[in-house]
Amino acid sequence: MAQGTLTVLTGPSGVGKGTLVKLLRERHPNLYLSVSATTRSPREGEIDGQDYFFVSRDRFAAMVEAGDLLEWAEFAGNCYGTPRQTIVERLDRGEHVLLEIELEGARQVKNTFPEALRVFVLPPSLDELERRLRSRGQDAEAAIERRLSRAREEVAAAAEFDRQIVNDDLEAALSKLETLMFPISVLPEPASVD
Ligand code: 5GP
Repeated sequence: MAQGTLTVLTGPSGVGKGTLVKLLRERHPNLYLSVSATTRSPREGEIDGQDYFFVSRDRFAAMVEAGDLLEWAEFAGNCYGTPRQTIVERLDRGEHVLLEIELEGARQVKNTFPEALRVFVLPPSLDELERRLRSRGQDAEAAIERRLSRAREEVAAAAEFDRQIVNDDLEAALSKLETLMFPISVLPEPASVD
């Protein structure tokens, strides 16, 4: 069986990755979105095992120690990582797998899975990103400041990625992403000319 495909989606928080991923999954139900482990506390409405595996710092450290994570990084004071085994199994089964992770993790994936497609989602501008982060009202001021400073660093690294998509129009960004992830690989046979 053919090996599956691995896509890594990265971009500053507030850029709209979550919405893009949600729409992608609605349109491509077979796409597997990796569920990360994190030491962050659940936000309102987040479900353990579905949005993240919410774990203690000790448990996270044990996972790192055991080599259970394909990549991991610290982000805005919390640790985040991708469980390795599920990803490897899904890829072996020929599935399409999507990771939605930050910059440091995406850099690690380049080393462990060089064949992965790494896509960076850019905001129309940093001002617009700040506006979006504040308007979603999810985080305290200090957390917003940390996320903004990290966003500047991440945007500066966008060129390291295989592809960049500017999320100024959601539908346009989604369709670019779909074209990258699901290229038309089998063209119809040309009509025979006798
Ligand atoms: P949030 O706290 O907003 O859910 O996520 C914060 C950041 O962590 C986002 O940029 C998200 O993409 C990233 N992230 C989520 N899961 C992982 C992971 O498994 N590994 C890495 N490296 N980053 C992750």
